[in-house]
Amino acid sequence: MAIDVTDRNLAQAKFEKSQAQLMHVSRVTTLGQLAASIAHEVNQPLAGIINYAKSGRRWLVRDTPDPAEALDCLDHIAKDGKRAADVISRVRTLAQKTAPNSEHMSLQPLVDETIALLGRSLLASGVTVSISAPPYVPAVMGDRVQIQQVLMNLLLNAEQAMRSTPVGHRDLCIELTVERDKVLIEVSDCGAGISGDAAQNLFSPFFTTKPDGLGMGLSICRSIVEDHGGSLSATNNLVRGATFRFRLPIAEAEGREAA
Ligand code: ADP
Repeated sequence: MAIDVTDRNLAQAKFEKSQAQLMHVSRVTTLGQLAASIAHEVNQPLAGIINYAKSGRRWLVRDTPDPAEALDCLDHIAKDGKRAADVISRVRTLAQKTAPNSEHMSLQPLVDETIALLGRSLLASGVTVSISAPPYVPAVMGDRVQIQQVLMNLLLNAEQAMRSTPVGHRDLCIELTVERDKVLIEVSDCGAGISGDAAQNLFSPFFTTKPDGLGMGLSICRSIVEDHGGSLSATNNLVRGATFRFRLPIAEAEGREAA
């Protein structure tokens, strides 16, 4: 009987692990596919706009300008512009669509699980992770999958920001702090930090400073956290790197218990 239960627990743990890995893979794949399809769908109308603008110009600078043809080019430009705008608004809807599935959620195990999921990649990049939390962190209300997505994005960004940091100094710190009615989650790195003009645009969709970046990560993170009644912000550290902070409301019953 005891062996039976152990076997069953092991099987369950294995199943949960592969589920989590699958979730990670599918998320990464979806983001990659999303990037490819946005690039394709926006590039086509953009190419159209450039071509019609050039051609419209040619019709107008001829010895005998042809306003009718130029007008036709302008109509095409407006049509292609609308097509590109439609793609962007579809992406926006996609990013905000799912209402969070609200459940009581303990943050510490979620942080541990997310680090375990990214463990191999963090290890390969020479990143050392430390977690600091008080002995009791009350549960928050939220959608586990979405909050894990936020954590994952922040951790991956931190890892990428530390690529230029000498090995041995690539420290990533996750700190949980209990405030009056919220839990504060801080992700600090010792990376390049947020450069001047990036600070204003960090959370804007499609803002990226990476050659292969999509620039949707932080904008999606912020909309997820705000949908949860929380907030997400970032500042540079005094010495090196940046800290991203988000707050999530403590679940009601927990708040009363803690008080
Ligand atoms: P992406 O990772 O595709 O660029 P994000 O929205 O996640 O998209 O990030 C937008 C930009 O914010 C990044 O390109 C980078 O310039 C900046 N950024 C994000 N995280 C960090 C960090 N930990 N340190 C410094 N800059 C960062």
